[in-house]
Amino acid sequence: MGLRSPTYFSGAFLCLAIIFTTVFNFAIRTNPDAAQSRFETLVDAGALRRATSHGERAIALHLKHNASENDIAALKVKTATTQIAWKNYTRGAELMRQGLSTPWGEALDQTTRIEIENRLGQAYINAGRIEQAVSIYASFLELAGDAAVQSDVDGADEIARYYASMVVAADSAFAGALNHTKPYNITAGSLEQTLATANHMASLGGFYGARSDAEYAAAGLLSAAYEARKKVLGGDHQNTVQITLILGPLYTKMGRLDDAETLYLDAFHAQERVKGANSPDLSLYIKLLAGLYEKQNRFTEAQALYEHMRGLFRDAFGEQRYAINRVQDRRAYINRPVSQQFPLEMGYAPGDLVSTAEYSVPTSKAPSTDEMKLRLAPDADADPREANLPVRLAQLISLCRNESGERISLRSGYRSYNTQRILFDRNGARGTVTPPGVSEHQTGLAVDINVSNRFMRQSDRTSQCFEENAFRFGFILSYPPDNNYLPGADSYEPWHWRYVGVQTAQLYREAGPYNRPQEFLAALPCYQERAATGSFPTAGETDICLEEPKIITATASEEADKQPFGENPETARILNDSGNTARVRR
Ligand SMILES: [Zn+2]
Repeated sequence: MGLRSPTYFSGAFLCLAIIFTTVFNFAIRTNPDAAQSRFETLVDAGALRRATSHGERAIALHLKHNASENDIAALKVKTATTQIAWKNYTRGAELMRQGLSTPWGEALDQTTRIEIENRLGQAYINAGRIEQAVSIYASFLELAGDAAVQSDVDGADEIARYYASMVVAADSAFAGALNHTKPYNITAGSLEQTLATANHMASLGGFYGARSDAEYAAAGLLSAAYEARKKVLGGDHQNTVQITLILGPLYTKMGRLDDAETLYLDAFHAQERVKGANSPDLSLYIKLLAGLYEKQNRFTEAQALYEHMRGLFRDAFGEQRYAINRVQDRRAYINRPVSQQFPLEMGYAPGDLVSTAEYSVPTSKAPSTDEMKLRLAPDADADPREANLPVRLAQLISLCRNESGERISLRSGYRSYNTQRILFDRNGARGTVTPPGVSEHQTGLAVDINVSNRFMRQSDRTSQCFEENAFRFGFILSYPPDNNYLPGADSYEPWHWRYVGVQTAQLYREAGPYNRPQEFLAALPCYQERAATGSFPTAGETDICLEEPKIITATASEEADKQPFGENPETARILNDSGNTARVRR
């Protein structure tokens, strides 16, 4: 028997190869398992383009062989990934959604599920299905809870932070998909669906708007929400007006002053129709508009608005609104500035802390804990059972609960120097907790407000209610956007409100600088004097009162070194005098 020639071997091999390939090709064309295994091999090899068609074929073959949706859920999600990698976003999103909505999808561990939902969200954005995308990310935002605010203290767990990080990461996709100058037109079917989408857009837009690096996504989402609410609810509806409070300042920051003006005018006229032309609620919108006109050097118009507002306050609160007992107010220290420029001293603790639950304030923690306590801070010349901090807080919350329908509670009130120090030591490295001595919570006058058991956000209706009404109850917003009161870059805290007494809060709204509460408090005697004599500056003029805080800073901190901070008439007198002296000195 002679050796067979190499040709014979290669011929046989070729023959076998052809048979094998034919059988194999036949198998992957007809046998679902073979098709799927070919798909998996290609995916593992990174050949996503070729894999895609095999994945689709495997899905079709499985279905032909009566596989259940649940059986092929994993295959669908994997095929979706290859479709998306190949920029077939619509098909990819569809497969992924189908895969997720099976028992298999439900049973995924949470991290995996979030990760897949995030890819689905991205695919929706890329496919131009913004309605579906915002629904996913708005639910992420809700699940992120407190982790969605930068000053998340503790309590936010890892999963919550993961949700928040996914929303953060989606901002550029939204910015790319939405035209921020031409509002996206929501195309969802029913009015309910349109409103639901608008709500999602408002909360996401509010979230991005509070960040320093996501204004295009914010403007795109908020303008779409605004147009949708206007169309469905009408321009006068409070939920429509609410958007202007978030979008207006954003436009201003982006230099779109004309757009901001249009919004503020719409909001002002809406509130004028709804609340009446004489409502002090209008003061918020007047102030925003006047501030904008000043920025545009339109001083005459700004001046007219300021005068209109003073007229409103005169009618609503009377000529006597400035006639306050300054010495007592200063002595009670309910209007002392607190910031890194005006630190409190270590030993300070208020003497009149009470449990807020006893004053019908809804609390989020056990009423007996320190954090659920606040100063009583009664009015000097009124019945202390009726006119004090906790009573007014309860009234404000009750008003806003009725207006918003949201669940509002006190999250945090008094915090001692030591409590703040412990919090700071624990979280200091992350830079999200106020150092001890700089927190208004140490005064027992500051409240953090919860909505639905998480920090209040600007997109909550309660936020609008507080912005409009808190001053009537003696509260002002301590950390407005772009403040420098706390260490750390961005310390806008829509949930943190500070009691300064009704008269001071009214004065701040009527005659104080917009969104500069600590400077206002530092120069309070100057503003009081100005109000009492009616010598208001004209729009566009330098605000002399605002030049004082520098002088007071030196005086106040020197004094703080020497004297215990507290109910001390001497310190009160010095704070008063320094304000007056500075005013005279200029
Ligand atoms: Zn706070």
